[in-house]
Amino acid sequence: MLDDMIDHVGSIRQQPVWQPVPESVRGAIRENLPRRGAGVMEAYKTFRRLVLPYATGNLHPGFMGWVHGGGNVVGALAEILAGMLNANLGGRDHAPIEIERQVIRWSAEMFGLPREASGLLVTGTSMANMIAVLIARRHALGPSVRQRGVGSAQMLAYGSAAIHGCIPRALDMAGFGTDALRRIPVDSAHRIDLNALEASIRHDTATGARPFMVVGNAGTVDIGATDDLKGMAEICARWKLWFHVDAAFGGFAILAPEFAPLLCGIERADSIGFDFHKWGQVPYDAGCILVRDRSHQFETFAQNADYLHRTTRGLAGGSPWPCDLGPDLSRSFRALKVWMTLKAYGLDAIGGAVAQCCRVARYLAKRIDSEPKLERVAPVPLNIVCFRPRGMTDQECVGLVADVQESGMAAPSTTKIDGRVAIRAAIVNHRTTEADADRLLEAVLR
Ligand SMILES: *Cc1c(COP(=O)(O)O)cnc(C)c1O
Repeated sequence: MLDDMIDHVGSIRQQPVWQPVPESVRGAIRENLPRRGAGVMEAYKTFRRLVLPYATGNLHPGFMGWVHGGGNVVGALAEILAGMLNANLGGRDHAPIEIERQVIRWSAEMFGLPREASGLLVTGTSMANMIAVLIARRHALGPSVRQRGVGSAQMLAYGSAAIHGCIPRALDMAGFGTDALRRIPVDSAHRIDLNALEASIRHDTATGARPFMVVGNAGTVDIGATDDLKGMAEICARWKLWFHVDAAFGGFAILAPEFAPLLCGIERADSIGFDFHKWGQVPYDAGCILVRDRSHQFETFAQNADYLHRTTRGLAGGSPWPCDLGPDLSRSFRALKVWMTLKAYGLDAIGGAVAQCCRVARYLAKRIDSEPKLERVAPVPLNIVCFRPRGMTDQECVGLVADVQESGMAAPSTTKIDGRVAIRAAIVNHRTTEADADRLLEAVLR
């Protein structure tokens, strides 16, 4: 299995980026309940036939859709080690938890948070942002919110019009509803308008609502814009609001010297959500929440339960446990693939991959700008390029992207810019080069 998979990664360029799952394959997956085992060889042969050829394609350098990381082989090998150990990182006293704590310390240092910051590895930034909303909720409403719920105060959170959809969803799940999000207009660079933000907070406060949280973007999902985080931190300090930064992919720009200044101010955040599985190149899933003041995270999630009793010695030591810091009790050893990736390659190499992705995006933007049939529809601050064939309707544009995906040559996705559909190429994979950008344009033009 290992030899086959390493060959698979090594020959990824010779394969189509993606191909549709044939109906026959879907049908073959729907086998009867396997009462009697077929053996590991048969199971593996079935995997090779039914799964391997029809994966998402994000290993491939031509995959540019959404924001998908390319993964890495060291991280994948760590998954074998983690699976073999079968550690449960909800709690108790063992070395795997120390590895996760070390990943959290490294992450806090990377963003300039204090050494005592706390945090947790989670499925992804959707969960990290959800945890941030719950911590901000407890911070604003006090301990009673955990017994009595959110009550009737009109709590409000603020973010730019370009905010990711998981923030309103988190507000929904936290009991505030999606209307609790104030979407503040952006400037021509897609950055939040700070004057409008403060005016909105002032107005809402004066009319009896209760602002409690501001979410800054470090890399918006549409075009990769980063808000003025320093300016937002100052507004939050003035109004005593929780300052969270959604740094899902853009956070790793802090490792590329040319782009790090964009993130100035992130070190003042109360909490940061980001994904190792995007620009950090760690295999899925590996998100992270960091919290400046550890007591806020602990007080939001810690519980007393007889069956989780803590001791000062023995296996029940080591409190606080990760289950005191988030909603999960049983948790996988996802820290190992992060730790091994960071240790094996080093942060400079990840920063190098970030810089290379941005270089490829800039090259793609330049080629689009000199191609009369195409028009670029947004600035390119980082690694995302949005463009459109001139004279195409929205519907034709959506069809064209599906055609390109089905060609196997490249896999962009779509978004809407100023209300119109655009082709969106997000360069996230460390394997992607200028030649892959050429191939995307060749496929689009064809
Ligand atoms: C991807 C993304 C998210 C969600 O992260 P998941 O890991 O997919 O849950 C949130 N915000 C931004 C800006 C993103 O790009």
